Amino acid sequence: VTTEAIRPTIPAERYAERLRRAAEATATHGFDAMLVAVGPDLRYLTGYEAMPLERLTMLVVVPGHAPTIVVPRLERAAAEAGLHTEVTILTWDELRAPYEVVTGLLVGPVGHTSPRVAVSDTLWASHLLALQSKVAKNARFEPASTVLRDLRMIKDADEITLLRLAAQAADRVVAQIAAGPLVGRTEADVAREVRDRLIAEGHDVALFAIVGSGPNSASPHHEASERVIRAGEPIVLDIGGTLGGYGSDITRTLWVTGGDAAKGPDEGFRHLFGVLYGAQAAAMRAVRPGVACEAIDATARRPIDAEGYGEAFFHRTGHGIGLEGHEDPYLIAGNDLPLRDGMAFSVEPGIYLVGEYGARIEDIVVCGADGPIVLNEASRELYVVDG
Ligand code: ZN
Ligand code: ZN
Ligand code: ZN
Repeated sequence: VTTEAIRPTIPAERYAERLRRAAEATATHGFDAMLVAVGPDLRYLTGYEAMPLERLTMLVVVPGHAPTIVVPRLERAAAEAGLHTEVTILTWDELRAPYEVVTGLLVGPVGHTSPRVAVSDTLWASHLLALQSKVAKNARFEPASTVLRDLRMIKDADEITLLRLAAQAADRVVAQIAAGPLVGRTEADVAREVRDRLIAEGHDVALFAIVGSGPNSASPHHEASERVIRAGEPIVLDIGGTLGGYGSDITRTLWVTGGDAAKGPDEGFRHLFGVLYGAQAAAMRAVRPGVACEAIDATARRPIDAEGYGEAFFHRTGHGIGLEGHEDPYLIAGNDLPLRDGMAFSVEPGIYLVGEYGARIEDIVVCGADGPIVLNEASRELYVVDG
């Protein structure tokens, strides 16, 4: 794949720096320790992509102490290979309860038996319940996003490059799909093509391919069904995956004519799409440091409300994106968090006339120092597909 040559890798020092800052943030947020489960937090802090399993793997961050990862004995080699920075590895074997190993790491350094502990939001309940019931009865557990959100929300230059490469790869897939043919195929068939093409364009994994045709275009999270695509109807195409661990997520709206000029978009759809197009553009333009997340949402909503489609835009305007497809910050009413330079998120208003049809336009945008940096480059116009 041609993008491979310029795909950055996060250097070891960057992970060391993230770990150092995470330990600092753990302390400044008043926690005694942070327990990091397998998943995006662990990958962010160490580069290690372990499989989430019933056997516990857990990074223990205690401010002032060396970060230590507790891994099953049989995973030691995988951890040595997968950790991209210096972390002490402590193994447990099948005969020893891993939760006691973790608690040992906590209670000793912390110096008391009722620590306030941040735990990864995606830690399996089975692991947390075991920790709570068996060994750390007096600990107070709170979500680690409190600590890690501020770090993970601000993307560095390498992360932005990966997000851009992912976005551009998804852009190419949109263009390939919009080239048709689409008429006479099932949504599921088109979704399979999307997934194959995402991989062919350099994605690690294709995570979703929403192909909502006709009335299904009015269902924002419709996946893809056996419905056959017909001439004279729209398709909402919302696709994405990860590239170098970072997410792509783009939505474009298509109209299929099947080559029949009489089957072009009707007046109502053209109007709806025009309003949506203006709303999405206005919301993207409004992005800059200091503007509240909810203000971007309001900017998208204003023109849609003004044209009487307010009830038909029934989801938030956007979500953060990075190692997770949906992460902080969320562009939603009530979120007064001010945007900061380096935040990355989707801007994706939609208008859905249930039972009839709908449309959505979605781009990934980075908040730059001077305004929006839009990572997707695919045209946002209505794609008229004649095949
Ligand atoms: Zn969504
Ligand atoms: Zn999407
Ligand atoms: Zn999205």
